[in-house]
Amino acid sequence: MGLRLLVMKFGGSCLTDGDSILRAAELVRDAFNRGDGIVAVVSAMKGVTDRLLNMVEGSLRGEDVREEIESLRADHVEATRRAVGDVEVRGEVERIVTTTISELERVLTAIGYLEEVTPRSRDYILSFGERLSTPILWGAIRSQGLKASWMTGGEAGIVTDSNFGEARPLMENTRLRVEAKLKPLLEKGIIPVVTGFIGEDLDRVVTTLGRGGSDYTATLIGEVLGADEIYLWTDVEGLMTADPRIVPEARIIEEISFEEAVEMAVFGAKRMHPRALVPAMRAGIPVVIKSLRRPEVRGTRITGEVKIGEGVVKAVTLVRGVGLLNVQGLRMIGMPGVAGRVCQLLGRKGINIFMISQSVSEANISLMISKDRLYQAESLIENALLGTGLISDVYVEEDVCVVAVVGAGMRGTPGVAARVFKAVASRGINVRMIAQGSSELNISFVVKEEDGEEAVRAIHQEFNLSGKT
Ligand code: ADP
Ligand code: ASP
Ligand code: MG
Repeated sequence: MGLRLLVMKFGGSCLTDGDSILRAAELVRDAFNRGDGIVAVVSAMKGVTDRLLNMVEGSLRGEDVREEIESLRADHVEATRRAVGDVEVRGEVERIVTTTISELERVLTAIGYLEEVTPRSRDYILSFGERLSTPILWGAIRSQGLKASWMTGGEAGIVTDSNFGEARPLMENTRLRVEAKLKPLLEKGIIPVVTGFIGEDLDRVVTTLGRGGSDYTATLIGEVLGADEIYLWTDVEGLMTADPRIVPEARIIEEISFEEAVEMAVFGAKRMHPRALVPAMRAGIPVVIKSLRRPEVRGTRITGEVKIGEGVVKAVTLVRGVGLLNVQGLRMIGMPGVAGRVCQLLGRKGINIFMISQSVSEANISLMISKDRLYQAESLIENALLGTGLISDVYVEEDVCVVAVVGAGMRGTPGVAARVFKAVASRGINVRMIAQGSSELNISFVVKEEDGEEAVRAIHQEFNLSGKT
């Protein structure tokens, strides 16, 4: 094994074409030649997971998606030609791509006939993005003269429960299997190239960890193998004070603690899986976020150290794809346990609650949940509680988003909330709901979807996060 062990995850955002995959392979080669042991974790190429989701929807509507499948094939074959220099290896990768695409076509055809998709088959289809990109990086690394072996997350030993779409790793099994599979390869100087995002349940059925899950795959493997560092290569130069697409003058945060970064991830920064940093935090392994295009830029280093003193607010993020579920009823007043029952009902169905607030009068509870579960949650509550007379109305609001202000320095600093809300109000934006976690690491609030970006800019400016004076 090498001097150090590095897990290098390549994000879909930066895997745009064959040239970028070639660059990824060169980074792996350089690190390997410095004497480091490497595990590469690979996301689907940019936009592919969304394209797969659209194909599922199209097939369900009875549309012919052969054209989309063909363009997916063409893109991956083209990427292979550019990234994989060795002719023999290239042929091997092209055959894998072709076989994988035929399999995808068969599954989508079946869905078209059945006009039905289960969470299990949806996960299976989503796994094709990573199963197409990973062999290409594998081929590119081998073309650099290194030994490598590619495998799915399940084959690498990531074992999960069967909660398709958002599967949770079973750590005991994962620990055993990942060690047994990857250690011997590393000892032989072979680079494991693993699909991100996907695992396998105990029956060996393919599962996915949830959107943005490749980061999670990387930290899980890093934890199990006791890696020295985990690199998340992406299309931005680090974790930034805000999404650069919303605030062009956003700045790179050079150092940040796990606590703060987790808060940012939960609230949508870098579209990272909310639990992705947990394994690294547990194991105390630094996570470095860097740009594949500009690897010379230092990027962001996430470690266990909390550095306050760099301003109270570190970052401001925007969460889309959420909605409000409002539960109303005068009879809730003074009736203990209604909020508890609502949460329990949702929890049993695996519907995650991001935020909850209850008005002082207790006649209203608002819950923030993922938009794609909103209507399911509404009927769940209606069916269970309307008949009881405890509540009189349930309704949803779709056109909302959450703005989260993050920074360890907010802890115990008075007046931060006042500044936040004043800045937002001065732009004429109405705040619908507020929550401050007891950690005091973040203040989050709900505004109309169309106001979200402006609210982010207002706060970025108020706390001078771009560092301009
Ligand atoms: P990857 O595919 O590498 O995992 P993602 O698309 O998941 O990358 O995340 C990177 C994207 O996250 C960037 O392109 C950027 O637009 C967005 N983003 C949102 N908020 C932030 C933030 N605070 N810092 C950095 N990137 C952010
Ligand atoms: N390809 C998956 C997604 O788009 C996983 C990832 O990129 O992290 O969500
Ligand atoms: Mg991502």
